Amino acid sequence: MQRNHGGRAVIIGAGRVGSHCALGLITDNTVDEVVLIDQNNAFAVSQAIDLADYSTGIWSDVTVRAGSYQDCDRADVILVAAGRGRRPGETRLQLLNDTLVVLDDIATKIHETSFNGVVVCITNPVDIATEYLTRKLDLAPGQVFGTGTALDTIRLERVLARETGVDRSQVRGLVMGEHGDSSFVAWSHVTVGGANIHELRDANITDLFAADREKILHEVHTTGSDIISGKGCTEFGIAILVSNIVRAIMNRNALMTPLSMHLDGQYGEKDISTGVPCVIDKWGRAHVLEMELTEHETELMRASCEVLRAHMVGVL
Ligand code: NAD
Repeated sequence: MQRNHGGRAVIIGAGRVGSHCALGLITDNTVDEVVLIDQNNAFAVSQAIDLADYSTGIWSDVTVRAGSYQDCDRADVILVAAGRGRRPGETRLQLLNDTLVVLDDIATKIHETSFNGVVVCITNPVDIATEYLTRKLDLAPGQVFGTGTALDTIRLERVLARETGVDRSQVRGLVMGEHGDSSFVAWSHVTVGGANIHELRDANITDLFAADREKILHEVHTTGSDIISGKGCTEFGIAILVSNIVRAIMNRNALMTPLSMHLDGQYGEKDISTGVPCVIDKWGRAHVLEMELTEHETELMRASCEVLRAHMVGVL
């Protein structure tokens, strides 16, 4: 994979999520240049100037401008954040038909460029969108992935820190499967201060670890829709996660994070993308980490993939 000195990120979809991802990249000084592409070019131009003001205001050298698909030729990373967000009461899967129209347009245009970097898909339903882009773009394995259950996992970590009274930095969670209502917590890999949550409960250190797991999962599942019912979108959480991912890609630092990745037999699944633990290597490519799941977790993984498959029939 070729890299430019300094680096360019192209963000397709300059709306709420895309613009906040740009804000994160500028704040972090992760790339030299952020290019915004939107079907509404006037909107992209205005967003770019506003973001350039922000960049100047923090004495950053990161340049921001609106661009075109030709800018993908020399880009290191493309962030796909195009397509409408959920309306109150809607599931992510209900966005599918609208999203496929958007992705078809985007994939065709990226394919016409000589882009050979990393595509990070944010657009929902992110697992099916990632699988779609994986199939349409002629890139090597690991060059296309989605944010998957990364957001669900930080939500889990926040709830666990609150429920256990343990400092947030000590909690490591893992949500797997669909970025949506069929996701599940891989409790066998949840740790607090490095100790598995089962060990802490068995040691009878505190009954906080017996916190109601169904209630915790329910909160993880409903956090997004709760935010949307109040403000009409989610934007800040996903933006910081994407910034962390792009920083890992550009700085060549390995990052372990759940992502939506095309599976080719891992976790017993094929021809589907879904949230699994991954490592982004120093070349910016993502690799699936195949961790041991309990029988129950394996069953939950299968059930979540079946939900996704049922929606993919006839459209992918
Ligand atoms: P938004 O409506 O604010 O912005 C979307 C932008 O995409 C608009 O500016 C629109 O003009 C543009 N667009 C639409 N079709 C396009 C096309 N064919 N080419 C280029 N641009 C196009 O929406 P938002 O709130 O920013 O959400 C964007 C996406 O991100 C949605 O799918 C949303 O569900 C998703 N999202 C994902 C996560 C996650 O965890 N993966 C979190 C939040 C939002």
